[in-house]
Amino acid sequence: MIMHYKGSCSCNRWQVEVEVTRSLEEFNPRVCDCNYCQNNPSEIISDPNMIIKFVGGETSITQNGDQLANFYYCDYCGDFLAVGRNLNGQLRGAVNSSLLHSSNQLGESIQIQPRLLCSDEKLDRWGKLWGVLNGI
Ligand SMILES: [Zn+2]
Ligand SMILES: [Zn+2]
Repeated sequence: MIMHYKGSCSCNRWQVEVEVTRSLEEFNPRVCDCNYCQNNPSEIISDPNMIIKFVGGETSITQNGDQLANFYYCDYCGDFLAVGRNLNGQLRGAVNSSLLHSSNQLGESIQIQPRLLCSDEKLDRWGKLWGVLNGI
């Protein structure tokens, strides 16, 4: 079964639609404990079957400490949109779950510690965890 959840950033210039094969209750938003994410708090969700479609305006992009991933922000309101990178020629990533209108349906948040992983391990993990990112 395929379900769609919609969301937007605070200023509504960015709309997002997330296509998933399980309901939001089964997703545990991930909170990362690295320095970058502690300074830029966010909760993200993804799975390999997720299709994340963004429609909207401009992004500003920053990279975290090890430069492996791009963090996309709405260029107008500054809301965090998604994190992602190219993996094997395809843009993959995880979406900021707070953008979703029904984010209150999400499961409990969990803490993750990707800083304990080396670069290869991160890329491997993201390949198994991230969805397909479009339009950003
Ligand atoms: Zn915005
Ligand atoms: Zn982090």
